[in-house]
Amino acid sequence: MEQQKILIIGAGISGIAIAKHFIDRGHSITLIDSGINRSSIIAAGMINPIVFRRMTKSWRVDEFLPYLESFYTQFEKECNESFFIPITIRRMFSTEQERSLWIERQNTENFKDYIFPSTESDDKYDAAFNQFGSGRVKRSAYISTSIFLESTKKWISQNHTLITDTINYTNIDPAQSTYNGNVYDHIIFCEGVEVRNNPWFQNMPINPTQGETLTITSDSIIDNESLNRKCFILPIGNNEFKVGSTYVWDTYNSDITVAGRAEIEKNITYLTAAPYTVIDQNAGIRPTTLDRRPLIGTHPSFSNLHLFNGLGAKGYMLAPLLAKEMVEHILDGKLLDKEISISRLIKNK
Ligand SMILES: Cc1cc2nc3c(=O)[nH]c(=O)nc-3n(C[C@H](O)[C@H](O)[C@H](O)COP(=O)(O)OP(=O)(O)OC[C@H]3O[C@@H](n4cnc5c(N)ncnc54)[C@H](O)[C@@H]3O)c2cc1C
Repeated sequence: MEQQKILIIGAGISGIAIAKHFIDRGHSITLIDSGINRSSIIAAGMINPIVFRRMTKSWRVDEFLPYLESFYTQFEKECNESFFIPITIRRMFSTEQERSLWIERQNTENFKDYIFPSTESDDKYDAAFNQFGSGRVKRSAYISTSIFLESTKKWISQNHTLITDTINYTNIDPAQSTYNGNVYDHIIFCEGVEVRNNPWFQNMPINPTQGETLTITSDSIIDNESLNRKCFILPIGNNEFKVGSTYVWDTYNSDITVAGRAEIEKNITYLTAAPYTVIDQNAGIRPTTLDRRPLIGTHPSFSNLHLFNGLGAKGYMLAPLLAKEMVEHILDGKLLDKEISISRLIKNK
């Protein structure tokens, strides 16, 4: 295939994952980002294969996990940086029922790749408040988001064009597939919640879900595992921890709040009474969807305009493989799964 010119708008995890797949297939990228990120940089970047609330496996985790492990580790080598950090997540059970469900799950074929067999020390674990025992998740990790975003953008800019600017949509001609008069084979929108300004995709049902995290420092909290109950406490090195996060639906306001901090600090008390100091507080907005599935696909009238959005609370887990599926859809004409495709919103399809 001849080299194609691809314009990508938005350099969060979505735009970067899309860029990486096009680059790997030999195409030429122009990546434009406003320089103001309100989601990918704020995210804790955690990869957790288990949904604790329901004690189920995360959606399509059997496919996403092996793919993302090789995607991030390969990308690390190319950037000569370290941002994919495996860490065990320890769930402190909230009820006896949760504990029994965990024990039941760990003995099934379906969960054996994701749950460590319980041991006596999990039951007696005493580095957090323990009423009902604890369980450890296998193959969990986190992406150090600031290192990831900085180093991958630097890598892209070595051989491709990276521009810090806010796209003025009136400078896009969808029929000619041009931006500022330059012709592109494809234009891919990865703006997160800012898609609300996009004239071709603004009706997509992306709902903003605000979330806050604290960064704390403590020399008493355990730093070789991420603790979880009501909130997560994620060790990020140097006695620092990211803690979070909150969920406030239907707001574009990404200011930090007193209520957000209070909620997180209260949730910490379910895990530990260890002393700590809050050193930072951040807020961002997740691009969520009502049916909790991404919104990916091609505009029904303009075949060169595409959307990659709606990654919700799990962008770092979903983006690597979904970006591959999107790029194969664009370059090879492969059909997108109905579950992720925007075609599910178009009646009678
Ligand atoms: C508090 C919090 C905690 C989270 N924790 C996790 C977690 O532990 N694990 C996980 O996987 N996910 C987590 N997430 C979710 C994750 O952050 C999102 O799924 C992901 O960041 C979405 O990425 P995106 O690239 O689609 O959007 P964004 O990161 O919002 O990127 C969109 C980009 O588009 C650019 N842009 C928008 N409009 C324009 C324009 N007109 N011109 C130019 N550029 C434009 C913006 O500048 C921005 O950089 C969390 C989110 C929050 C808020």
